[in-house]
Amino acid sequence: MPGSAGSFVTGLSCPRCGRVLDHRRPHNLCPCGSPLLVDYDLEAVGAALRKEDLPGRPPTMWRYRELLPVEDPAHEVSRGEGLTPLVPLPELGRRIGLPALVVKDEGLNPTGTFKARGAACGVSRAAELGITDVALATAGNRVIEERAAERGWFDVSTLKEPYRIEGKKTLGLELAEQFGWLWPDAIVYPAGGGVGLIGIWRAVEQLRGLGWLFQSDTPRLIVTQAEGCAPLVEAFDRGRDESEPWPDARTVAAGLRVPKARGDFLVLEAVRRSGGTAVAVSDQAILEAMAELGGAGLSAAPEGAATLAAARVLRDRGDLGASDRVVLINTGAATKYPGAVASATAVP
Ligand SMILES: *Cc1c(COP(=O)(O)O)cnc(C)c1O
Ligand SMILES: [Zn+2]
Repeated sequence: MPGSAGSFVTGLSCPRCGRVLDHRRPHNLCPCGSPLLVDYDLEAVGAALRKEDLPGRPPTMWRYRELLPVEDPAHEVSRGEGLTPLVPLPELGRRIGLPALVVKDEGLNPTGTFKARGAACGVSRAAELGITDVALATAGNRVIEERAAERGWFDVSTLKEPYRIEGKKTLGLELAEQFGWLWPDAIVYPAGGGVGLIGIWRAVEQLRGLGWLFQSDTPRLIVTQAEGCAPLVEAFDRGRDESEPWPDARTVAAGLRVPKARGDFLVLEAVRRSGGTAVAVSDQAILEAMAELGGAGLSAAPEGAATLAAARVLRDRGDLGASDRVVLINTGAATKYPGAVASATAVP
């Protein structure tokens, strides 16, 4: 690290208008309304850290400290997020024609979902910047925006501050490390706001900059959404750069119920540049997939289960091949949804 405390962050930049902002001050959105991205001096990171150093580090997302924005490790607010297992599912995989199917089990994060990664990073950096009160909206709690403005809380909800993406980026860094610095062929991600997918793409780009991968290719990033709320899938299919607000959004997968994602243009760009695709699946297929994953010993929330339903469709339509190494991101554990567990187990 540069000195005892410091980071390799050079600034915040806007992917829409190109504005560059000072990362040493708190920022929410860019004045143009776009989410902000965090930039690093990758050359300096590469000089300070070799990938061979990583195995000796603690098994949490903070092992990638040089690629994270927190300057002083004392500010890391952490319950041990990250380094979740990759679980091979050969039997289930063979059943759907994808024998090299693997699940990244994010349900094993301390909070039961991969949200923990973004939250840990966002809250740590907020604390470091001297912010004492943060407001974090959950789905269905849109009142936060007003309240935060009124009371001076710092709004850390989805993409409204730059650092949660960085936390979710560690998901991509881990996949690269766990696959021995060779990308899998495809990563299937259940997108709500798409923060995780944007984060994985940041990892792909930054690791390419560091030259750590044995091949300079990229995994195909595949977005899945529920048929009852699929603005990103529709925009992808129509060749659009942005999505249209989805009217009357409904799905059992609450984390996917995002009618218009603020970072939609970033998600669509990442999917296209990675050679990926997008697919919508029904709630029925999601609940069946939940039960199927349960049968294979995995606790999957409906969002995570959507990736299995998607993989099946993609295999059928030829977007995934029998030899592809496919990673499903199980973004959360079934315990987040006691009701859905009951309906999933009621599926014949
Ligand atoms: C929030 C959430 C998602 C969607 O994440 P985004 O980063 O908004 O795309 C997926 N799965 C679960 C379990 C979630 O909680
Ligand atoms: Zn801007």
